[in-house]
Amino acid sequence: MEHLPQRLLEGYSAFMRGRYAAERDRYRELAREGQTPETMVIACCDSRAAPETIFDTGPGELFVVRNVANLVPPYAPDGKHHSTSAALEFAVQSLKVKHIVVLGHGRCGGIQAALSPTAEPLSPGDFIGKWMNLVAPAAETVAGNAMMTASERQTALERISIRYSIANLRTFPCVSILERKERLSLHGAWFDISTGELWTMNPESGDFQRPEVD
Ligand SMILES: [Zn+2]
Repeated sequence: MEHLPQRLLEGYSAFMRGRYAAERDRYRELAREGQTPETMVIACCDSRAAPETIFDTGPGELFVVRNVANLVPPYAPDGKHHSTSAALEFAVQSLKVKHIVVLGHGRCGGIQAALSPTAEPLSPGDFIGKWMNLVAPAAETVAGNAMMTASERQTALERISIRYSIANLRTFPCVSILERKERLSLHGAWFDISTGELWTMNPESGDFQRPEVD
């Protein structure tokens, strides 16, 4: 029988001795009572941008969905398979989260792919290309801006796509209704992998700024 990679087995063993041992009661309570996270995070699959690590959260605190480039597609009740929309529906309607955070990050490979639409697809299905079509109009505008450097274009599209995903969140009736009733708030954030800096989106202007933290 194939075993899990050794690194994972060792990590699991350390988890049981350390974190699980320390938080055993919390895990048991969560198993008994169920989860009641107040925040949903929509983050990228990127191995360097795990929201539980960045926000230093424990079990039961964050309801997380991760996809390539942390995108939210527009509301589309078309009978197709929408994994992100399903997670959103569950978070909002069943868990009744109070906050949704779209967490983008620097050096995002999905955003990089969107900025190079002429690159060869990774496979005949071109799933990434089709998925990143969600931000194609913004990607074309940014990619065509010769006044910006490649890294400026990359950061710009990473942040524009966060605003775009937040706009798409509002196309879901359950989200817009609860936001109007002030029972749900939407947030944007961007994490710089190299420096660890977190930038948060000003809800009025859409600008990204460093939050006040200790
Ligand atoms: Zn990414």
